[in-house]
Amino acid sequence: MADFRELYDLDAYMKEFDAEVLSCTKKDELYEIVLSQTAFYPEGGGQPADHGTLNGVHVLDVQEKGKTIIHTCDGPLEEGSSVHGAIDWERRFDLMQNHTGEHIVSGLIHNTYGYENVGFHMGEVIQIDFNGPLDDEQLAGIETRANQIVMNNEEIIALFPDEKELETMEFRSKKELHGVVRIIEVPGADVCACCGTHVKRTGEVGLIKILSRQKHKKGVRVEMLSGKRALAYVQKAMAENHKISVALSAKELETAEAVDALLKSSFAKEVRIREVSEKLLAYKLNAYEPGQKLIVDFADELDRTVIRRHCNALAEKAETAAVLSGEGEMWNYFIISHTVNLREKADQLNSALNGRGGGMPEMIQGSFRASMEEIDRIMHEVLG
Ligand SMILES: [Zn+2]
Repeated sequence: MADFRELYDLDAYMKEFDAEVLSCTKKDELYEIVLSQTAFYPEGGGQPADHGTLNGVHVLDVQEKGKTIIHTCDGPLEEGSSVHGAIDWERRFDLMQNHTGEHIVSGLIHNTYGYENVGFHMGEVIQIDFNGPLDDEQLAGIETRANQIVMNNEEIIALFPDEKELETMEFRSKKELHGVVRIIEVPGADVCACCGTHVKRTGEVGLIKILSRQKHKKGVRVEMLSGKRALAYVQKAMAENHKISVALSAKELETAEAVDALLKSSFAKEVRIREVSEKLLAYKLNAYEPGQKLIVDFADELDRTVIRRHCNALAEKAETAAVLSGEGEMWNYFIISHTVNLREKADQLNSALNGRGGGMPEMIQGSFRASMEEIDRIMHEVLG
């Protein structure tokens, strides 16, 4: 944990600062720069590193190695020179909002259910793993209370207790603590040892939105967003919902019902289509006189069991029956014969009709890439 000597510890709102370049080392195509002091927050405690500039040079990463903070930059800076640093504030403030929002949610869950935050990742969304289960209703309750803490606009307090005070304090912590410990208190929500950067008052966190939950080990993985990012997410989700509402002529808050009705009607149509196509097959079957030598029957896209059943029925009226299912130049075939050895004929059919497949002497199946006319002609040539 940091020593709290750095500018970002003293003032998380410092956007610009001046410092002296202590060293600059070339590493691969980049430069590792150490400064006399810095407001750049190094990656740590789950919070990503700051970006920004030192004079004209871009700071791409900041890492803490021992007591040294290393700025990885895309250009060199002269040792001993003075530099002006500027933090990418948009990025940092977004991280402060999301980091503080995480404190509020983790603290409330800890206080209410006794669970620990056992995994924390700040990526496109903020991911937190808790070591106990939570359902949607419980998380909705936490979300409501978290936003109430925001609305209360509580002042966030940083404490530096000595070892004795620390022994008697109750706080959340992810690891063994040594040296100077900073305790971050969000009144009403959380007390936690943390070296990250936080907003001054909870009001600055803005909207806190829990996005999803899924089972994780024996607990739950929660995804959430705070601040501007949460607002952007809600705007996007509402725009999507608006499109559904327009497409289905449903009220914005009744789209789920409308989708449900649509799915039910679509399922009913599928059932109806199946009934109609069964009737059509029966009608076609009845049209054939018994005692035929060869029947070649083309049908619309059918599933395998229907093709098979239809072919079996046709084979009652012919020595050889073939059902082709598909359209254009793509056809699945199923052929049954009582008189011809189909296994011997399969190669001939496949090579003439760009096909593949095979089977047993009395039954073969596969596919052809050919037109209806060609298939009909070759079938009669080979099997007729
Ligand atoms: Zn923190």
